[in-house]
Amino acid sequence: MFDDLRDLYQEVILDHGRKPRNFRRLDDPDRTARGDNPMCGDRIELFLKLGADGGIADVAFQGRGCAISTASASLLTELVKGKTAAQAHALADGFRQLAMTGTCPACEAALADDMERLQPLSGVHEFPSRVKCATLAWHTLNAALDGSKETSSE
Ligand code: ZN
Repeated sequence: MFDDLRDLYQEVILDHGRKPRNFRRLDDPDRTARGDNPMCGDRIELFLKLGADGGIADVAFQGRGCAISTASASLLTELVKGKTAAQAHALADGFRQLAMTGTCPACEAALADDMERLQPLSGVHEFPSRVKCATLAWHTLNAALDGSKETSSE
């Protein structure tokens, strides 16, 4: 990877890690789930507000963790708002692939813009212990959409 691209990616992670977007509780959420990554000590709680069509009308999170887990949760909240549950699951699957292998050849064209936004986190595939930091929020999102309350990266 070119050094300037690496620097840019680093900057995105630090920015979202320090100033996470949608970092709050939602009043009266339709769904919540907690995620726990004991390997690193990352913990998040995700809140979803569903629209009449079952889509994600609003999403927010709280918790504490490393810059990667926080940045990933922050990007998640920006990307899944307005999506249907099926679209959100598809993006979560694509992101898991990206985090584990650094690329997602199977991802549909419809996900291309979102995957582009998530590229800064793709570097974790070189560090297997950090993959769980990056995917924690996405596991938690799937759990919330499926109606389960707790999830662990284990
Ligand atoms: Zn972590």
